[in-house]
Amino acid sequence: MAHELPDLPYGYDELEPFLGEQTLRTHHGKHHRGYVDGLNEAEQRIEQARESGDFSNVRTICDALAFNYSGHLFHSMYWQCMSPDGGGPPAGALAEQISNDFGDFETFRAQFQAAADAVQASGWGVLAWQPLGQRLVVLQAEKHQNLAEWGAVPIMVLDVWEHAYYLDYQNERKKYTDAFFDVVNWDFVSRRFEQA
Ligand code: MN
Repeated sequence: MAHELPDLPYGYDELEPFLGEQTLRTHHGKHHRGYVDGLNEAEQRIEQARESGDFSNVRTICDALAFNYSGHLFHSMYWQCMSPDGGGPPAGALAEQISNDFGDFETFRAQFQAAADAVQASGWGVLAWQPLGQRLVVLQAEKHQNLAEWGAVPIMVLDVWEHAYYLDYQNERKKYTDAFFDVVNWDFVSRRFEQA
């Protein structure tokens, strides 16, 4: 079954002033759609390779699968991680786990923002559930597929590729990662946490 671009859970102008309408239209309609199309194409190519028995391009195809699948997954989560009604501190079990693993919410936020600010070039800030240690961890993802902690379940992602914020913040990524916490959708992140 072909992958499809999910609708945004809000209007293109509803995250203003955090992100402008043009940023979201381009990011969702062009960048995210590019990952969906690239994933469908890569899945067709690996299917053709299986049918023909010719796996000489398997490395290129695996690379395309990892790049486009991770991009599709993270963008689908990223839209849900924000809400026009978001912001403030988290509540419930997620809030307790954050206090337990980071000391308090402000320390977690400082670590998450510092990690996102310091991603080299394109990538993501990630809050993830680490099953082995039964704890929350903050990760950086370079591009989508490097530096991954295998088995960790991402529960909150922040896109720090320049296309995510350049129109609104130019090269001032710190202002973007700071303002992200004005719109963060803790209900969604809590659901992801409870599922993990
Ligand atoms: Mn992006």
